[in-house]
Amino acid sequence: MYLYNSASHKKELFVPKDPNLVKMYTCGPTVYHYAHIGNLRTYIMEDVLEKALRYLGYPVKRVMNITDVGHLSSDADTGEDKMVKGAKREHKTVMEIARYYTDAFFSDCDKLNIKRPDVVEPATNCIDEYIHMVQTLLEKGSAYLAGGNVYFDTSTLEKYYVFNDHDEEDLAVGVREGVEEDTNKRNRNDFVLWFTKSKFEDQALKWDSPWGVGYPGWHIECSCICMKHLGEDLDIHAGGIDNAFPHHTNEIAQSESFLGHPWCHYWFHVHHLNTDSGKMSKSKGEFLTVSLLEKKGYDPMAYRLFCLQSHYRRNLVFSWENLDNAAVAYDKLIARIAALKEEGPVEQEVFDQLKQRFVNALNGDVNTSVAVTALYDVLKAKCGDATKLAVLQDFDRVLSLNLLSAAQALRVKQTREEAAQQDPQIDALVHRRTQAKKEKNFAEADRIRDELKARGIEIIDTPQGTKWRKV
Ligand code: AMP
Ligand code: ZN
Repeated sequence: MYLYNSASHKKELFVPKDPNLVKMYTCGPTVYHYAHIGNLRTYIMEDVLEKALRYLGYPVKRVMNITDVGHLSSDADTGEDKMVKGAKREHKTVMEIARYYTDAFFSDCDKLNIKRPDVVEPATNCIDEYIHMVQTLLEKGSAYLAGGNVYFDTSTLEKYYVFNDHDEEDLAVGVREGVEEDTNKRNRNDFVLWFTKSKFEDQALKWDSPWGVGYPGWHIECSCICMKHLGEDLDIHAGGIDNAFPHHTNEIAQSESFLGHPWCHYWFHVHHLNTDSGKMSKSKGEFLTVSLLEKKGYDPMAYRLFCLQSHYRRNLVFSWENLDNAAVAYDKLIARIAALKEEGPVEQEVFDQLKQRFVNALNGDVNTSVAVTALYDVLKAKCGDATKLAVLQDFDRVLSLNLLSAAQALRVKQTREEAAQQDPQIDALVHRRTQAKKEKNFAEADRIRDELKARGIEIIDTPQGTKWRKV
């Protein structure tokens, strides 16, 4: 499998350190609000990556954090604390907010067939691990105390900007417009590992530490949770592209300084879901959720297909028109699958050929848009329906579009509708109405039509005769 690695800026052959266990970590949600469908694009594509690895024969252990502490509204240690903000908004405690939105997140994931990672760890569970890492970084001279907080010293690194040849002036977080400079920092990009002094006197969650009562910086949680469950090296770290800097850059800085050796090989970044006014974002206030899509009548699978139709390294533009197109495509796809008959043998040679196209798509940097084309190729293939159904079931291990179960549900619905169309009593009434019309007894014909209407039956006169349907 070839994967694009943001750290080397090129596609690389994927070689896990231990072929018997791919270690994968993904940044989880900050649970102060619902996940928007942009966040969920990232989780869908990470889900596809994990399932593709398993499909291609790699055993995977995947870990994800839940950010329930420490994430400030700017990724650069400034702004409001997101969890406190959520708690104030809803007049609840921070832990109530965290619990509610964690459950809401997994309920959205279930609707979109996003598998739950093997390990899910809330950040508040690992305070001892953070303290240990911060202490070690202080001992190694990679961190310093200033104004009561502990900071990571980026000047101790040979290379800080891993993902891009950033323009230091542009990215220096302390000098961004509207961001207050923290005068405790020795270097502009130094970041907080542990806060004791902050402007949030109302910070709800605080813990004792060697540096005073306080709370962890945001970046440290991912390094520690990852090492707690996956050890000292990592194969793949995934997240949205906005997390590459400063979050992932800081994760690498502190993890490698702590370990004294390279940490993660492949960095998998999913590009953004944008609207016509830019990146979809929670902090902008108005955003789209899966529940909202459902309320508007969309099947969450239509949104999953919408995401799969484009490559994860391209920005994806959301519009209702684009989603409508995906919804129509999904319904047509399911209708075509529902029309397949479970008859005849599975032709192994054809199965293997069709599968190979799908495998090639996954091997080529998880190219889901090509994988979706391979799916349509199955429907067009010259082979029996049983072979097609077997291949579709196989592909759906990765695509997770409910291909066979949705087709089965559609078949049941169609059968029920057909059965509902067979009611001898109604047939007899319709027949009597036709007779009355032939005899020019229009008063009787109209009376029967009204009687049927009262029973919820609509009469449709067609050139092929009179039909009826329940309304
Ligand atoms: P958060 O809950 O804000 O920590 O974000 C959860 C995940 O969603 C992270 O991996 C972000 O990088 C990602 N993300 C945020 N906004 C978008 C977006 N508009 N499109 C795709 N992914 C996003
Ligand atoms: Zn993270």
